[in-house]
Amino acid sequence: MTETSSVCCYCGTGCGVIVQAAGDRIIGVRGDPDHPANFGKLCSKGNTLHLAAVRTGRATVPLLRESRSVLPAPTSWDNALDVAAERFSRIIREHGPDAVAFYVSGQLLTEDYYVFNKLARALVGTNNIDSNSRLCMSSAVAAYKATLSADAVPCSYEDIDLADLMLIAGSNTAFAHPIVFRRIEAAREKNPDLKLIVVDPRRTDTAASADLHLAIAPGADALLYSTMLHVLLWEGLTDNAFIAAHTSGFNDLRTQLAEFTPGAVAAVCGLKADEIVTAARMFGNAKAPLSFWCQGLNQSIHGTANGAALIHLHLATGKIGKPGMGPFSLTGQPNAMGGRETGTMANLLPGHRDINNPTDRAELAALWGIPALPETPGKTAVELFDALADGTIKAVWIACTNPAQSLPDLNKVRTALTKAEFVVVQDAWGDTETAAYADLLLPAATWGEKDGTVTNSERRISRVRAAVPPPGEARADWRIACDFAIALGHKLGSDNTVNAGFVFASPSEVYAEYVKTTVGRDLDIGGLSHAALDRLGPQQWPFPAGATAGTARLYADRRFAGADFRAKFIPIDTHLTAETPDARHPFRLLTGRLRDQWHGMSRTGRVPRLYAHEPEPRIQLHPADLNRRGWQDGQLMRVKSRRGEIVLPVAASDEVKPGQAFVAMHWGGRSLSHDGVNVLTLPAFDPVSKQPELKHAALRIEPAALPWRMVVLRSPGLTADAHETVLAWRAKLAPLLAGFDYAALTLDGRERPLVALRLALAAPLAPEQIEQIARILEMPQESCLVYRDPARNVVKRALIEGNDENARLAGILLAGEDAAGHWLRTALRDGVPIDALRRWLFAPRAEPPVAATVPRKVICNCLDVSESEIKRAIAAGASLTALQEKLKCGTSCGSCVPEIKRMLAVPQVG
Ligand code: SF4
Repeated sequence: MTETSSVCCYCGTGCGVIVQAAGDRIIGVRGDPDHPANFGKLCSKGNTLHLAAVRTGRATVPLLRESRSVLPAPTSWDNALDVAAERFSRIIREHGPDAVAFYVSGQLLTEDYYVFNKLARALVGTNNIDSNSRLCMSSAVAAYKATLSADAVPCSYEDIDLADLMLIAGSNTAFAHPIVFRRIEAAREKNPDLKLIVVDPRRTDTAASADLHLAIAPGADALLYSTMLHVLLWEGLTDNAFIAAHTSGFNDLRTQLAEFTPGAVAAVCGLKADEIVTAARMFGNAKAPLSFWCQGLNQSIHGTANGAALIHLHLATGKIGKPGMGPFSLTGQPNAMGGRETGTMANLLPGHRDINNPTDRAELAALWGIPALPETPGKTAVELFDALADGTIKAVWIACTNPAQSLPDLNKVRTALTKAEFVVVQDAWGDTETAAYADLLLPAATWGEKDGTVTNSERRISRVRAAVPPPGEARADWRIACDFAIALGHKLGSDNTVNAGFVFASPSEVYAEYVKTTVGRDLDIGGLSHAALDRLGPQQWPFPAGATAGTARLYADRRFAGADFRAKFIPIDTHLTAETPDARHPFRLLTGRLRDQWHGMSRTGRVPRLYAHEPEPRIQLHPADLNRRGWQDGQLMRVKSRRGEIVLPVAASDEVKPGQAFVAMHWGGRSLSHDGVNVLTLPAFDPVSKQPELKHAALRIEPAALPWRMVVLRSPGLTADAHETVLAWRAKLAPLLAGFDYAALTLDGRERPLVALRLALAAPLAPEQIEQIARILEMPQESCLVYRDPARNVVKRALIEGNDENARLAGILLAGEDAAGHWLRTALRDGVPIDALRRWLFAPRAEPPVAATVPRKVICNCLDVSESEIKRAIAAGASLTALQEKLKCGTSCGSCVPEIKRMLAVPQVG
């Protein structure tokens, strides 16, 4: 076994991992004890990275489609790149460089980003290059630039230990950045005086941990922070000397703030005036307040104002640039920050330059050896796909992202991808929703197979290293971009100097060139190289030539970026949401994350055990809304917005308020009969940051009349290749999903992984369709016990494998009557001996017949500890420490600890 140090590829926390490999397979992972982001800890997602390193679903050879009516066929890399260059060059010659576009990803490494930028701007001559980071943190970029004149997070994770107040705004940190939250929990344990305020419409695990939870009305963030500033002014808690010496624009803002009295805005914010005053006093009286924010602020039609209003609190109190304090935006993706640094957004350029600044353009043109950079602003994510739909952009190159699942208003996005003349998808996975639209699919290397760098939320640059080679013919992303650039350069007859600019022998050479674009800039990393990072370990920028260590904190000298070195207060847009509920759409949609899934599930969705905490998609409504309407928990609902409709089971939850509805962002067309929540979301975006409002929409919800039900469960048991087998079964079932009224295709299990298909239809499924599903899952009638009731359209099958005392249920199909589906799932997953089950297999029985089949909701995924076990122990008087000692729950990654604490806070009955 070899061990290679690298970085987790999920969230922007940027945890160091040690990747364990045997031959060409990744077999394990552990936290890197020396990495300063996590000191050896990993969350439930990071802990299972190796289980996502599977082969099923990987793109391994280039696939080319001659026309949209035929299936893609394997081709050589040479031919693939030649065809791509021919198609792009023809469109560029006929329609100009802005007729093509590149849409890339916060998953890419810094080296990948840099080459894509150079390809788009220097070779093609377009600024049409944007990143899926536009969907998660472009508002934070805009807010930092508007107030601090630089896109620079001033704080470090070590500030968590030094703060005396933490304000978490629009972030379920416990789920989305779990290791940051572990550090917050540890700091609070060490310092009981450290207070936590959480602002979130939902009572998330993060909010439930707070000393003060402000359950704000959706979209009222800028108004809330501006009202808190009003209170700070009123109570004399501002630092007027700091404001006078180091800022500008305060007097204008003060005029606007005058009307934001707590009494006047409390109802709009959905809060009590006292709560706003309390929060403001806590902030104003804190010696070291640290504010974290994320998508709840960013994904808004005034995301820039949301971030700016929060930063204003720090500027008005002078609480910035010193230990323990400052405005700290958390980045969603592992290298979203690297995208900002390399300028991989339509409005940016490498080295924190702006496309609209002639000096910045000239500097970069000189570095790249070209006469000039294009001046026309590029299209941002939503605009780019709109332009694809209206034919302004004719070809798109999509790298390492899945816009057919992640963009808002998906029906429109899918139309755009269908209309495009040429779609290239460069991805490690060949089965994403977007890959289905690829005219050319190029296989890319992925986590564990790539070499380069990433930057996390605290500006810390870490080395990413390959532990195994990529499978088949997959190549590193930077190399694909370079190979294409060289092929395109020849077709376009580009200058030899430009073409030579894409000849790199290694990612370290790419990095060395990128570093030059930062020298003399605020993010100067002239002192870094791959070799230096290998020697010194992860470092925070700036790290100029000659430096011996990175920079933990910015603005300690009170000199902000910009010509006058002053931070700026800006006018605040306090509109709420783009859509407000009305009589036809009375519910407010809120979107967010699950604890154990990440983004579009293209990676976590391949790990059966990561479904244990949230086995199926659902829409959460307040119990009062269910009661008022006579809806039942689990009932299927038709959920409609002005853009589309989806079907989901409803779940009662007091995490949301009456009138609100929560749907997780992760589930898409590979898991459901529809494309998930982004069918409902709207493409309205912030006018400055161009970040769409993915968090909110107005909904209509009504029962879905889909009375015919079917459940199919299949597990290969304890076979060596069980995991890949269930993935292969799922891959064969996935293309059928869109044909059903409602379908949920999920995984489950640990040692015995299983695939689960749940259907609900208006009318019974045709026998041949049932047979098709059974054959895919290797449950032919002749191998199964069979029950039939033609009068009721009921068919049941049970597949039993093994013999005598080893006989276990391996598959169950319940068509037309599925009451026993939930406990049979437990039986299958836990390998309950068949003798205990045999007489119940076809019984229309909702109650588990034997104790071993009682369904379990897993709370601690690492140690497989269920909710009922924890509740029983709490009822017997166990504390958190006792639970951890006795059941071991919460002792590995710790992701479940907030939920256990919530369970401890309410009386449990044994
Ligand atoms: Fe990965 Fe979890 Fe660390 Fe995020 S917090 S980087 S998902 S291990």
